[in-house]
Amino acid sequence: MGIKKENRWIAQRFLLLTAFALLFGYGNSNTASAELAPVTEVLSQVTDCNSTIVIRSQSLDKEQLDSACKILITQEDKFHAVFNTRGKPVADDNNVKMRANIYSNRDEFVKYATAHFNMPTNNGGMYLEGYPDKVGNQAEFVAYERSGKIWNLKHEYIHYLDGRFNKYGDYCNGLHDDHAGPEFCPSPHLAYPHIVWWAEGLGEYLAWGESNPKAVALAQENSFTLSELFNTSSNENTGADRVYRWGYLAVRFMMEQHRELIDEMLVHVRSGNWQGYQQLIKTWGTSLDAEFSQWLQSLEAP
Ligand SMILES: [Zn+2]
Repeated sequence: MGIKKENRWIAQRFLLLTAFALLFGYGNSNTASAELAPVTEVLSQVTDCNSTIVIRSQSLDKEQLDSACKILITQEDKFHAVFNTRGKPVADDNNVKMRANIYSNRDEFVKYATAHFNMPTNNGGMYLEGYPDKVGNQAEFVAYERSGKIWNLKHEYIHYLDGRFNKYGDYCNGLHDDHAGPEFCPSPHLAYPHIVWWAEGLGEYLAWGESNPKAVALAQENSFTLSELFNTSSNENTGADRVYRWGYLAVRFMMEQHRELIDEMLVHVRSGNWQGYQQLIKTWGTSLDAEFSQWLQSLEAP
């Protein structure tokens, strides 16, 4: 695990630059972010959609903002209609309001998001739940415009709703193997099953509804059993198709064919009883695999 020569050279160069910056009084020790405009300057437009949704944006025009608010409010209504959760957040959750942060494009997102939100940018946007048990905590998601649309708008917003109304605790409290920033959850992670199939699958299911051609096309390939999909996670047992498309298929199957099991599962998830959640999933075992496989074949190919 030795540091490669070029990396060491860069590290030394960075130290020199930092020393130079400190010597001549440029900003703090973090020279890179000190040169960047702060988030309030870059995302200077603030729009309240309703009492629970606010958008901070770089360059969305009025029409785009109206449309984004409408999409988010529709998702909020849909979520509460599906789960009957309006006005009923999980215990110890102070995320009363969700703030969407929208950069003009991917380049701006990559340029600023790490400095503004301490998050990686090798993704299509991120939901940052923060510490919901803390009063005044600000839940937010970070996204950007692409082809005139806000990329992953619905999906990221579902994470907020799922986090506030379905899942107890903060991100690290849940079951996954992600240790990246900004949360830097402790490792090693807990045993399988994890909750990633549900979190990402639900985001896709409520965002796409029944029209998800990419997922339905994959369904014909029967690549995973349902019991395998419950072990989907972020670093291992992962991949875009497995997490998003197969997550969609698993959640849609369970929501449409076994809603009573999901309601039983959510009792554990809403109270943060992860042991209870894992025990329940283990009692399902492989008993639903054959039915899932048949159901996949019954989906209309796009
Ligand atoms: Zn997601």
